[in-house]
Amino acid sequence: MNTMSLKVVFLGTSSAIPVLHRSFPAIAVLRKDEVILVDCGEGTQRQMAVAKIGFCKRMKILITHLHGDHVGGLPGLLQTMSMLKRKRMLQIYGPRGIVGFVKSFLKYLKVELGYELELNEVREGVFVREKEYEIIAKRTVHSIGGYSFLLREYPRPGRFNVERARELGIPEGPLWHMLQEGKEVTVNGRVIEPSMVLGPPRPGRIVGFSGDTIPYRSLSKFFKNVDLLVFEATYSEMDSVKARENMHSTSVDAAKIASEAKAKMLALVHLSARYNDPTIIYLEAKKYHDNVVVPADLDVIEVPYPDSGEGFRVYSLKDSLKSAET
Ligand SMILES: [Zn+2]
Repeated sequence: MNTMSLKVVFLGTSSAIPVLHRSFPAIAVLRKDEVILVDCGEGTQRQMAVAKIGFCKRMKILITHLHGDHVGGLPGLLQTMSMLKRKRMLQIYGPRGIVGFVKSFLKYLKVELGYELELNEVREGVFVREKEYEIIAKRTVHSIGGYSFLLREYPRPGRFNVERARELGIPEGPLWHMLQEGKEVTVNGRVIEPSMVLGPPRPGRIVGFSGDTIPYRSLSKFFKNVDLLVFEATYSEMDSVKARENMHSTSVDAAKIASEAKAKMLALVHLSARYNDPTIIYLEAKKYHDNVVVPADLDVIEVPYPDSGEGFRVYSLKDSLKSAET
């Protein structure tokens, strides 16, 4: 895997009623050597195995809310990780109740995990600060308390100007590296600031996840300028009354928010079992946003850096699995 890539793997794209071709909600973000799993519906571990994600990697699990379709896969996944001799600490983040939920099923299942578990109940705002990215929560409006999440990479240092570095007489090697990391260096008694050899900072990538929610105004602000917005579209616009009754969004609700937020791409998930063919969901959303996908299970979206000039790559792992079999 390209070490710079950011892949969003759709492990499960259904809503609460099971359907043959869509598994329960779970999305894995693969970034460098880390997995960030958003929701963990029933069968997530099986989908992870099919997608060859691995159970012992650095990993965080973010839970949008405590409905069965979003957390039903946690007991099995945690247990499997232990059986596979996971040693790395696992972090789980979710709304109020997540700590009690996990502790009680571990207690009643009498599971002794072979790795450390860090359980966190999050509040609105930044709740994860890593070296290269942060994760932010915003409250959803649903039948139970929950959150939308935003994964935001910090801007990267600007491009290193090799010619300029040579002109300034900086010898190639560790000093270049230090400047690239934003540290000043001294050459022949002269202090060289990183800004003398670096271009302007380059933007990181931003991916948003709606969780289950009715659409509301400030959501588009929260998701402002995301590269990829993964939004629930449980219902078609034709069933908008049902959508409100059950506190969900329609395809059009999702597309309007994506468009207001200037999301570069919109991926619609959490489809109700009533839509055998997702074409209607796609076509309705397409009227309000020009870059829409309705991923199938095991589809992958690779999110490019905004300044790279590259486009999004969308492909299915099913294809690569098939070709691996032949
Ligand atoms: Zn749901």
